[in-house]
Amino acid sequence: MTSTKRSAFVAASFLATLLLFAGAPLRAADSPESLGTQDWTLGLTPSSALKANGADVPAVSQAVPAMIAAPRGAGKALNAYFISVGQGDAEYIELPNGKTALIDGGPGNGYEPGNQPKDGTPVDPYAGGDPPIAAFITQHGITHIDYVVMTHPHRDHSTGLKYVFDHVKVEHFYDTRESNPNAPEIKTMRAQITRKGIVVSHPAAGERLSWDPAVNVKVLNSCDKPGSSVTGSVLNDCSIVLKVSYDNQAILYTGDIQEDVETELVAKYGDELHADVLKVGHHGSTNANDQAFLDKVKPSVAFIEVGPNSFGHPTQTTLSRLTKEGAKIFRTDKDGTQEYTIGGQAQLLVAR
Ligand SMILES: [Zn+2]
Repeated sequence: MTSTKRSAFVAASFLATLLLFAGAPLRAADSPESLGTQDWTLGLTPSSALKANGADVPAVSQAVPAMIAAPRGAGKALNAYFISVGQGDAEYIELPNGKTALIDGGPGNGYEPGNQPKDGTPVDPYAGGDPPIAAFITQHGITHIDYVVMTHPHRDHSTGLKYVFDHVKVEHFYDTRESNPNAPEIKTMRAQITRKGIVVSHPAAGERLSWDPAVNVKVLNSCDKPGSSVTGSVLNDCSIVLKVSYDNQAILYTGDIQEDVETELVAKYGDELHADVLKVGHHGSTNANDQAFLDKVKPSVAFIEVGPNSFGHPTQTTLSRLTKEGAKIFRTDKDGTQEYTIGGQAQLLVAR
């Protein structure tokens, strides 16, 4: 998205939020190209708002000076970030009680199987220096994170976490018990985390995580029994899945679960899967995002964490299914880091 279009989009988001706050929907002709449509409606509720990364905010602030003087409401906001880290996952949450959570740390910049130099340089996912998530950590001045989750031991989710644990004080680490012998550095990182004295939990499906008394954080899937595999689908299906609910809205974080687990979740949780916001499964792959699963989630907004890749992520099939569900689609490769706010006087945040 060009900066002009992005600014227009943020302004449109702001206006949509204001109008919706007044009970009226907005239709905008100038849509971000990633939405793939020239005519869209921001179906956000009055207490939610969506914006692109913070770099755009000053321009909006200049454009909309008057309305932002309204007093803040009593309710505090939950801010959910979908971080642009290339081909991988990293999501950050600022909870209403001031605590923070990071779900996955994205990939590294180093050599992985298939992209290391031909001179015999060994695989070293850390070789390229700071990982993509470092920019977000720096820009937001993050020195402390209360809760870090590693959904599953794949490098596009785990490698950036080493940077986080090296540079940020972490209180609590949530992990699966599945190991990936093809990524021995994850075993090393897990040992380092334990040595640092960080509290480590391996939550089971059905557990609720006590992150904030006002926020319901429920684990819908995990591998809490010891296991080991080098098979991608087995590791993907071990992803910790979280449903985060606050102020009558919910965000579903799916990691990389594939269709078979999605089918299990539909059978186990049914309508409880509904979420306003979906962190789209497995970077938009078609081996996830089964139609029956999406029918239950029925998201209004879908964030796809994706970068340049050879897998064809996200697939047209997934994009079509999400569109059919009525979801507005945002992609970190095209739209950059995204923020979704629930509660509080969210429209003020957009214009701040
Ligand atoms: Zn992944």
